[in-house]
Amino acid sequence: MSPSLSTAPTLSTAKELLARLVAFDTTSSKTNIPLIAFVETYLAEHGIESRRVPTPDGQKASLFATIGPGDGGGIALSGHTDVVPVASQAWDTDPFQLVERDGKLFGRGTCDMKGYLACCLAMVPGLKARGLKVPFHLAFSYDEEVGCTGVRPMIGEFGKTLPTPRMVFVGEPSNMTVVDAHKGPVRWRVELTGRAAHSSMPHYGVNAIAYAGRLIGEILAMEEELKAGPLNERFDPPWTTTQVTQIEGGTASNVVPVPCWFGWETRALPGIDPFTLQRRLEKFAAEQCLPQMRRLAPESEIKVRVMNHVSAYAADNNAGIVPLTLKLAGQNETFAVSYCTEAGLFQDGGAPAIICGPGDIAQAHTVRERVRPYRGAGEVPHLPRPPSRLGRGIDLPQRYGHV
Ligand SMILES: [Zn+2]
Repeated sequence: MSPSLSTAPTLSTAKELLARLVAFDTTSSKTNIPLIAFVETYLAEHGIESRRVPTPDGQKASLFATIGPGDGGGIALSGHTDVVPVASQAWDTDPFQLVERDGKLFGRGTCDMKGYLACCLAMVPGLKARGLKVPFHLAFSYDEEVGCTGVRPMIGEFGKTLPTPRMVFVGEPSNMTVVDAHKGPVRWRVELTGRAAHSSMPHYGVNAIAYAGRLIGEILAMEEELKAGPLNERFDPPWTTTQVTQIEGGTASNVVPVPCWFGWETRALPGIDPFTLQRRLEKFAAEQCLPQMRRLAPESEIKVRVMNHVSAYAADNNAGIVPLTLKLAGQNETFAVSYCTEAGLFQDGGAPAIICGPGDIAQAHTVRERVRPYRGAGEVPHLPRPPSRLGRGIDLPQRYGHV
């Protein structure tokens, strides 16, 4: 650690907060309530009330807090509290203990995205002292890593029990570059039911795996067609992708398989309706598979279920959020990414959003996940002036991956 870092009070605050946040194991499958309670207490100590938006079972909650006047509008700083699992990753330190080494801060969630949450929280005393004319909001969600599901009930309260922010800064790791577009994923589960028979007598059965193969063939055909366009060269790859991601079927090696299911996803470019793919597969199933299956076994089924959908996102050009963020970040270029965030959901909920946050997405979800504090003249990995220079300087952008 450099001497300038060790003496910077705001850094120690952000770093201390990050250490506390990392210590809560908020893997998406677990409760985030202890972390939320910690943040509530911290905010209350600064005279700030916060509102939980809990799950029906009370095991998880989003948290919304307003600093400054409570009469609507304002700027929200948004991040998710959950992290991806550490299972099957060979960490050489405790992933839930912040470790500083070579000027970097290691721990699960440091990059994605408790580093940003810590920066936001570290700003609170300064914001509070500022006598804001326009409110700042903190909007912390859960279950982002399992399909951006946890933020939705909170957004659903905008304009009802919670104010609708005028703008939302989603601090996903972008190395402080300004990301103004991402693709929109849809995940489906396709379930087939055939009829069992002894495998020596396949003509008495309906082989669900074989019909799944036909459906997958149609998906492969769609994939090839999508590569031809429409194209948007801002994205890598520049086309809407689709692929099969999981498959399971059969019960024994000598039985014609009755069950088979497979997982299938698309990541659609902004402006592309991903459900045209679903309609096409359902039509193929209805015309090319089910009639043959049901000729022998009327109980045969093919069901296509949407498991998750996050809207594609393109920044609202009328909201002024892109030029503002570029100015604040001191940049002149925006980027588009293929991973998804909560930004599209905020925007669908009436709050124009932009993505800009510390950390390199290439470090997110990895073993030895880390974030590197900025080392410049006393600057720290937090948000020194709201919302200007949002934690500026962290690692340089390289590449993107994410969920
Ligand atoms: Zn994230």
